[in-house]
Amino acid sequence: MPGSDAELARWVRSLGLPGLVDLHLHFMPQSVLDKVWRYFDQAAQHYGTEWPIQYRLPEQRRVEVLGELGVIRYAPLVYAHKPGMAQWLTEWALDFGARTPCAVPTATVFPEPGAADYLGAALEAGARCVKLHVQVGGFDPRDELLDPAWGLIAEAGVPAVVHCGHGPARGKYTGLDLFEQVLRRHPRLTAVLAHAGMPDYETAVRLALRHERVHLDTTMVGTGFSEDIAPLPADWPALLVELGDRIVLGSDFPNIPYEYAHQVQAIAGWAAADDRLGEPFLRRVLHDTPLRLLGG
Ligand SMILES: [Zn+2]
Repeated sequence: MPGSDAELARWVRSLGLPGLVDLHLHFMPQSVLDKVWRYFDQAAQHYGTEWPIQYRLPEQRRVEVLGELGVIRYAPLVYAHKPGMAQWLTEWALDFGARTPCAVPTATVFPEPGAADYLGAALEAGARCVKLHVQVGGFDPRDELLDPAWGLIAEAGVPAVVHCGHGPARGKYTGLDLFEQVLRRHPRLTAVLAHAGMPDYETAVRLALRHERVHLDTTMVGTGFSEDIAPLPADWPALLVELGDRIVLGSDFPNIPYEYAHQVQAIAGWAAADDRLGEPFLRRVLHDTPLRLLGG
């Protein structure tokens, strides 16, 4: 497995892959990112642990770092914490995706009047992934103002990365049971459960087994940091066998308190722990499945 960021790109190529495809990382307007970084500076208060951001760098440098890590395609996700922001963030993300070679255009949506209009316009403009953050947004994913948006995402066939688990912090409407009600209304929705539903990993796997378009992303899962606050079940590799090709690389770059390679080490550890996983599993998680969801 890759010992450090410096070894990562070469290690990925040794698997026979052209590079990594990361379905869950973040680029945002700098004013918004500065606020996010200030929030993480107070992490001891919010999460009960320090959260020193590893890649606190100018935007252009962050793009270069991803290239050096061997990330060849990625979904730079934005999300709103209050009404009146999602359209602006989406316009920024569409522009960023268009002007940044390895990025895809993405969108976000918030339950508010006009949500279906700006989201529909974004999907028509080529958005390839939509992020919804139920905990930060503090909204109910079943909100009737969101219902047409879920329908549009399902119809477009683009993945919705949904942070709806209780970790790392609970929200008023977090919980996989609650999100499953959205899935029952929109069975054609391609949903990606952010952080593999942390801390309810087994529930997330079972949810995915009930809904064939539900995927899990690896974001922060199995890292030393997360194992301290939300450890994986002992039979996690066996659960991954059941899950088949429905787990995708996500990292939360740049807002992570460890090297990017550490996330990949965690994934490589799962692959090595069960003979039924191995390198084919790594090729699917790190490249094939996220690329398929992003439309190639
Ligand atoms: Zn994230």
